[in-house]
Amino acid sequence: MAHLSGTDRAQLLLLPEAVDDYVGPDNPVRFIEAFVDGLDLAASGFVRVAAKETGRPGYDPADLLKLYVYGYINRVRSSRRLEAETHRNIEVIWLLRHLKPDFRTIADFRRVNRSAFKQVFREFVILCRQLDLFGRELLAVDGTRIKAVNSKDRNFTRRALTKFIHEADEKLADYMERLDEGDAQEEKASNNGGSGPGDGKLAEKIAAIKGKRDRHKALLDELDKTGEEQISLTDPDSRAMARMTKVGVGYNIQLAVDVKHKLIAEQEVCNQVLDMGLLAQTVEAAMDTLSVDRIEAVADRGYFKIEDIEACEKAGITAYVPKPIRGPAVAEGFFSKEEFRYDPDKDIYLCPADQVLSPRHFGKSRDNVKIDYVNRDACKACSLRERCTKSFRRVSRLENEAVLDRMASRLAARPDILDQRRESVEHPFGTIKQWMYQGAFLMRRLENVRGEFSLTALAYNIKRAITLVGVAGLIAGVRT
Ligand code: SF4
Repeated sequence: MAHLSGTDRAQLLLLPEAVDDYVGPDNPVRFIEAFVDGLDLAASGFVRVAAKETGRPGYDPADLLKLYVYGYINRVRSSRRLEAETHRNIEVIWLLRHLKPDFRTIADFRRVNRSAFKQVFREFVILCRQLDLFGRELLAVDGTRIKAVNSKDRNFTRRALTKFIHEADEKLADYMERLDEGDAQEEKASNNGGSGPGDGKLAEKIAAIKGKRDRHKALLDELDKTGEEQISLTDPDSRAMARMTKVGVGYNIQLAVDVKHKLIAEQEVCNQVLDMGLLAQTVEAAMDTLSVDRIEAVADRGYFKIEDIEACEKAGITAYVPKPIRGPAVAEGFFSKEEFRYDPDKDIYLCPADQVLSPRHFGKSRDNVKIDYVNRDACKACSLRERCTKSFRRVSRLENEAVLDRMASRLAARPDILDQRRESVEHPFGTIKQWMYQGAFLMRRLENVRGEFSLTALAYNIKRAITLVGVAGLIAGVRT
């Protein structure tokens, strides 16, 4: 039996007369059109919103924004590929009414309007809020790294530079010694009427190491000047950061995901290497867009920082962050602090041997007062001492540590909340990186990648909301 052969290319067809006939009522481009047309682009910060009085007419920012939103939803992000779509893609031809901006115009639009995309993302969050798609009760916060346009070979940490310079100095000293010896032999040979071994290769090696050492020293001097700990040469704002077991050069993406439908309530891109200290600010921004005074937020151990948990309480955020098991005692295999019970009424700790540790020493830890609880006499005679300390055990507590105790009690009452966190944040991260192929940024510099990621997060939310209420439901939301 023959295979399906298709239709003859020369065959005349009675195609629909209007482009509109090719775009069904449930096509997402119809929502993109309605959504962008409903935005106040000037208020959102877009430039050239009003047409020029004279000169050649330019493209309406609304049209270019529609092109980008469509592109990010459909995994087309580069300006050249977006230009290609304006020529061959019937949905884009419909969306742009046959307009065909060139790739430079498309790229310039993203660059000059990079700060305005965040507001467009927020406008869509507000629309979803009005459609009751956000639970507005619990946010799952997490961070991930997205690769920057900067290879690992073009990133240098202070530690690596210092080590290289030290090793280069040692190597140079060794080579110089060998060169001196060679010179001495040469001189001796020439006094005896012969010729010495010479060492042109050694001199070449020395010059190469010196050159490399000088370049590394210049980078180290630059770090001293800026006070930074690392430097990236291709995208100066990117940083080497570890995620799981791998280190890569990229940006830290923070998401606050509403657990009701896994929609992103807030997103931010920064180049801080660790997540620590980013919880309160991420959730506060989400609260503002979700229009709530109080909310719960759950995050992983990487966010555990007393100052941040305190800031959460002050901002009306009920935080759930598990405590990391760390510290010198744990590193040495001794009882962890969690095995000591604090009694707030008596202000004492009860140790694993049921001995009372009382406050003895008062000191400082960053901006907090730190109190050490000890019982030297009990430790001296303790049968558990080998598992607890080398001499006597000291348990430190910050003056404001009650905030952590309250959080520990909340977590103990709701252990399932940590699973909820994982399930909620894995969805957007997985979708963005795997399905949307957005595991790497196209642009350089922090402000540009922030704009890029706002479009990415917007595209994720639009796809998700279409799954939840359909194109018609979203269009109805825009029009109410
Ligand atoms: S060594 Fe001291 S703190 Fe540790 S269990 Fe014994 S008495 Fe308690």
